[in-house]
Amino acid sequence: MEKIYWGSYTTYELEELIEKDPVVLIPVGAYEQHGPHLALNTDKVIAEKICEELVRRAEIPCASLPAVWCGISEHHMKFSGSLTLKHETMSAFLFDILDSLARSGVRKVLAVNSHGGNMVAVNEALTKASYQYGGTFALLTYWNLIGDEIRENRRSEFGGISHACEMETALQMYLQPDNVRMDRLPPANNVKGGSFWSPAMFASNKISMYIPYDQLSELGHIGDPQKATPEFGETVFEAVIKKALKLVEVIQKGELLNENY
Ligand SMILES: [Zn+2]
Repeated sequence: MEKIYWGSYTTYELEELIEKDPVVLIPVGAYEQHGPHLALNTDKVIAEKICEELVRRAEIPCASLPAVWCGISEHHMKFSGSLTLKHETMSAFLFDILDSLARSGVRKVLAVNSHGGNMVAVNEALTKASYQYGGTFALLTYWNLIGDEIRENRRSEFGGISHACEMETALQMYLQPDNVRMDRLPPANNVKGGSFWSPAMFASNKISMYIPYDQLSELGHIGDPQKATPEFGETVFEAVIKKALKLVEVIQKGELLNENY
């Protein structure tokens, strides 16, 4: 039987796995509006598929927790159906999970995040776990791995990749094509921002700040989903998996400080 998720193991099987010093993955997603053409589960599915594929291909001991399906989406709440946790709720929930893992002996955890709004709370929980237990409790927000591949392969101009955009739509075309309403693809809404701050992914922002999405988008998306293709989705996904596999291996072997990928 293929074992991907923590919950498919028995307690005795987990005892054996933990003795091997595994990397435990935590997919962290969101349930929020993604414009007229993508469903609310977009980010949750991306984080989940990345972790499933990592466990499948990893050559080191590794397992995944089920996805944290709800994230922090306060900035999307003007759009119907979006669900959000409070910062304190998410940080406390994640810390309790990390604390439980650590009490079983786990010391290597990688949270695989697919949503910008989650970063501060997830980092807070991971940092608290590190203070308490040592070990490696790290946060990966997946697009941070693939700036080069995006630059080489994107069809949209700067501003075309942000939210329900060229990249997220392409990933859905590749990972769950039924989720893409091709007849509802909205026109480009490229918000480039200024030299201090831009909502574009891969912008080199000088500040971070909170801004509700209804101030940036009428339909809910930021970017250019018209430029998305399943091929670009596959390129992005495979680039993430390739680099994240290396990362997971380096974490497991304790080589984070002396590895150049
Ligand atoms: Zn998203």
